Amino acid sequence: MQNSSLVQSLNSAQAQAVTSEADRLLVLAGAGSGKTRVLVHRIAWLIQEQHLSPHSILAVTFTNKAAAEMRHRIERLLRAPSGSMWVGTFHGLAHRLLRMHWEEARLPQNFQILDSEDQLRLVKRVMRQLELDESRWPPKQAQAFINSNKDEGLRPDHIDDYGDLYQKTLVTVYRQYQEACERGGMVDFAELLLRSHELWLQQPQLLAHYQRRFRHILVDEFQDTNRIQYAWLQMLAGNTVPITIVGDDDQSIYGWRGARIENIRSFGDDFGRTEVVRLEQNYRSTATILNAANGVIANNRDRLGKQLWTSGDDGEPIFLYAGFNEVDEARFVAERIQQGLQQGMRRSDMAILYRSNAQSRVLEEAMLRAGIPYRIYGGHRFFERLEIKNALAYLRLIQHRDDDAAFERVVNTPPRGLGEKSLERIRLTARELKIPLWQASLMVLQHRELSTKAGKSLAEFMAMVEQLDQEVRGLGLSEQAERVIEASGLIPYHQNEKGDRGEARVENIKELISATREFEINGAGNSGEETGASLAAFLDHAALEAGDTQAEADEDCVQMMTLHSAKGLEFPVVFMTGVEEGLFPSMQSAEDLGRMEEERRLAYVGITRAMKKLFITHAESRRIYGSEALHAPSRFIREIPPHCLQEVRAAAKITRPIAPSGGYRVQEPDAPYRLGRSVRHPKFGDGVIMGCEGLGPNARVRVNFAGAGEKWLVAQYARLELL
Ligand code: ATP
Ligand code: MG
Repeated sequence: MQNSSLVQSLNSAQAQAVTSEADRLLVLAGAGSGKTRVLVHRIAWLIQEQHLSPHSILAVTFTNKAAAEMRHRIERLLRAPSGSMWVGTFHGLAHRLLRMHWEEARLPQNFQILDSEDQLRLVKRVMRQLELDESRWPPKQAQAFINSNKDEGLRPDHIDDYGDLYQKTLVTVYRQYQEACERGGMVDFAELLLRSHELWLQQPQLLAHYQRRFRHILVDEFQDTNRIQYAWLQMLAGNTVPITIVGDDDQSIYGWRGARIENIRSFGDDFGRTEVVRLEQNYRSTATILNAANGVIANNRDRLGKQLWTSGDDGEPIFLYAGFNEVDEARFVAERIQQGLQQGMRRSDMAILYRSNAQSRVLEEAMLRAGIPYRIYGGHRFFERLEIKNALAYLRLIQHRDDDAAFERVVNTPPRGLGEKSLERIRLTARELKIPLWQASLMVLQHRELSTKAGKSLAEFMAMVEQLDQEVRGLGLSEQAERVIEASGLIPYHQNEKGDRGEARVENIKELISATREFEINGAGNSGEETGASLAAFLDHAALEAGDTQAEADEDCVQMMTLHSAKGLEFPVVFMTGVEEGLFPSMQSAEDLGRMEEERRLAYVGITRAMKKLFITHAESRRIYGSEALHAPSRFIREIPPHCLQEVRAAAKITRPIAPSGGYRVQEPDAPYRLGRSVRHPKFGDGVIMGCEGLGPNARVRVNFAGAGEKWLVAQYARLELL
């Protein structure tokens, strides 16, 4: 039974996991040891050897992209479609359940998903109603309070306020926010899970149905499940449904979002007797990269403890580069990417990782300057862009008038003369009568509570929405989108914006129409149980997709992403940037051991993404979040065994003083072109040396001229005068 080609490509521990007959199986192993591979093979094995129908398998992954990848790999292994299999993220799967059982879940059939920006807007509205001062009660904090309680499975009634005013107020905000969601038929991300958990709790016959249906549950990246996800799995598995989980305690990086490493530890107690398989051979990285990762993570206490080894070579050392500022750092990265390309690598083989999204801009600029196509993965997501959200809001309103978030977004976008005062009037009516804004607008118009001008434009806006609804009913999705966008006036509105920004926005809106067209052809790429390419299905797709992908270009691109979104992925060449105290580890983690250890796990995740070559960079001074600061190299660099590291600075002689006519001497103290020195150029005027590189006749200096901006000059021809 085990002789199939399925297990041929596995080592014995992996094969044991794939073919285990245990009802509770935990695969606990470090990065790159084949956990995800085991999960995929196990699904194929269940179908091929245990004759489970794809229909009876539920697999949970961490991103939509990972889900698509898993489906693809299973199809390749089985050479058969996996369409009816439930594979997705927790959110995606919970959403699917709620769509199918909206009635039992006490939701309107056309309930809307509220993304985090819409959610914040709604929270603010609720806080205004309660007359809470935003400076004392930051809405973001209230939003986090709501989400973290939902992640813990807690409704307002379950929260103990200890008679404390602070806690009491937040609970009130949560309660009113939830009421507003219920009235408008809106469901936020955390609610998806909580609601579907409650659905099972309250409808045992429905739970029993799914427990009969699913013959195996599989979960990847289990170390990052939060309490409600854990409870959700526990409820579905009950005593009867077999479950396989894979995870690595050293890669738990979402503690700040409620993930609980303890879930791995408590699994055996809560789910019943568990077979544990450990995988110890790493197939991803060179020995040097692996040693570096092991060296860093060894500084954490209280680990489950795993040994990773590889039969591969040491490979190249890890290259360490100290930029003198973030621009220099980015330039170094771009240069090394170009070198890689010259050596025949593909762009997509290379990834740039950073700790926070704000770091991407400078790196992006360096890529643009060097003409290197790049793709930001999970950063500025297509469906989260302002103009796209505006366009989607029109579509949402066509679909569902009671969608308050959509109403708020576009009632005066493009501006149609509805001032804050008029809107406040509408909000107040909505509040008093506990009705959606749309209905409140009707009342306000009826009672002529607005100025003639405002009343007129509100009435026109509402008539337009009604009319569009009638008009697009029989049309296909992309025609609907096209018509609604045209009528919205958004395109001329953005066209009139100054600069390139408006143009980019118009392009994006056009891209949205392409997206609907694509959706018509491919659907959500999901199972046959989907509802087809309706507007409603597309809007859900947009809301969920905003979670982790962006419009995929076919072009071969360098991959850029935060360390968090790199989890589970691998690249031949990795640049880990901004590895500095205060940035990574982040400032906030300095005083909290738990958070520091989470940062270290993040470093472990980053290092272990690299297969062949790893660059670690940091900048001595960095302008970020609008201010400039000096940063020491991160402690994580010191934790890497020194023999694994090689400093690029000395070896490649970059940003070091150089002699203009070739006579290079390492650290020549009185070399003429030193960083920071003031110089004068016959044509460009006065400037400051920002960088030097290269040797001999090719040596170049980078000078920032007060009048002419930044220039690269070949040192021997530059005729620079030292000031
Ligand atoms: P992470 O913890 O980062 O999610 P993982 O444990 O899920 O990693 P995989 O992504 O499944 O690891 O595997 C890492 C790499 O090693 C992949 O390229 C995979 O194809 C390869 N690999 C895993 N097992 C084997 C094997 N037995 N033979 C050859 N290659 C393997
Ligand atoms: Mg994995």
